[in-house]
Amino acid sequence: MRLETSWEADDSFHRDYYIEDGEGKILEKFGDFPTLDQLRQAEYEHNERIDLTNIGAPCANCGKEIKNRFAADPRGNLLCWDCAATRETEGTEAGVRVNTDPTKATYSQSHLYEKSLCDYVINVATGCRHGCKFCYVPTTAGYKAREEMLNNQAEVSDLQREWGSYLLYRDDLPERLSLELEESDFGNWRKTDRGRGIVMISSGTDPYQDRRAAQITRGVVRELCSKEIPTRILTRSTIAARDADLFSEFSDTLTIGSSIPSFNEDMVKALEPGAPPPLKRWKMLDSLRTKVPLYVSMSPTYPSMNQKEIHQLLTRFKALQPSVVFHEPINPRGSNFEIMVETLENSGFEEHAKEFQRLQYPQNWVEYSLKHLNLVQKEGQRLNAPPIHSWPDRELLKATSGSLRDQLAAMRQAISPEPLGDEPASGKSSAQSPLFDDYSEIEHLVKPSKLR
Ligand code: SF4
Ligand SMILES: [Zn+2]
Repeated sequence: MRLETSWEADDSFHRDYYIEDGEGKILEKFGDFPTLDQLRQAEYEHNERIDLTNIGAPCANCGKEIKNRFAADPRGNLLCWDCAATRETEGTEAGVRVNTDPTKATYSQSHLYEKSLCDYVINVATGCRHGCKFCYVPTTAGYKAREEMLNNQAEVSDLQREWGSYLLYRDDLPERLSLELEESDFGNWRKTDRGRGIVMISSGTDPYQDRRAAQITRGVVRELCSKEIPTRILTRSTIAARDADLFSEFSDTLTIGSSIPSFNEDMVKALEPGAPPPLKRWKMLDSLRTKVPLYVSMSPTYPSMNQKEIHQLLTRFKALQPSVVFHEPINPRGSNFEIMVETLENSGFEEHAKEFQRLQYPQNWVEYSLKHLNLVQKEGQRLNAPPIHSWPDRELLKATSGSLRDQLAAMRQAISPEPLGDEPASGKSSAQSPLFDDYSEIEHLVKPSKLR
């Protein structure tokens, strides 16, 4: 599929961009300034790639042909890189400041092999509309290093407090990734035991949070999977289901999952204000169940959740037949507990807010983390649920000793039992099992004072 131009040199000079198939049949006309949204939609409908850096598409601002990098404005008008890069904040959409992300890197190595998730990550944007109050992303060192860029592009002054109110897109990521993959040999990429060479989309944003992000993601997934690079998608968004055709086509190299921490809609709405309700996420995964391997991320489970709620979550997850259920309690990062307490108080969840407030003391956080890790493993066993893969935080190891510490360390070393390409699902690691029958058994091995 190619984009062609016809010229009508009459009094009102006119150009018309259209796409045609291999036999010269015109499939669709776009007028003289096709928008990025129109072109991405055409790629979607015809299930083909248009090389937007090589078709002579015009910049809507200066009229020059786009040759290298490009971006779009909030209305979807295509912009050359010079025009995109010299603008101030692009605009505000539904309370979110949006602009272009100037990042050059396409993929990068990741420490998420420690969670048995991946060795590489690709982020389709910087920032995230979902604005989850516990989100770790704005507190990471890599993210903080981008503070100046975020200030320039979206007038961000407090990365964590303003999280959810700014979003910078990487519109030309599929095209740039395509070029890089052509020159790169995946056989030489890093493949750790736990990361298995998997590329994850995305660790620092939601790849399907809106239409523009979803269009970038579709292109990225196609580029990776068509080169048989194992790919993991993680999203809280239901519009991922629009790519079911692509997921089916590449089900050998792809897995898709969603984070569902609770089915308490009001609590989830307060703590993940921009994300769809949890039951809709479940339904999205269910609609993909027969098309592509699934996983669920039960993260993070709230301190107010009891055995009944954990049971309900795992029962519903079991019905999805996922390859694995990842689990994590909420870990302290920057001021995330303070922000969650404020949010819950302002949303009328005073009692829950008190429970989150308690966790600001290390002793309480350690106890809650250990109890939740144990509870989820125990309920998983009782229900004969899909394998549970717990993620104990590194700090928990500092706060424990003896056999408890050894098991937490072994849990962190375990490899997710998911199948990968031709590799069948491995058995569940023996380390991924309950930690105790009763908390009093291990209390003497807990040393929270070592945390501060
Ligand atoms: S969806 Fe993920 S990246 Fe986005 S705010 Fe929530 S936790 Fe952070
Ligand atoms: Zn321009």
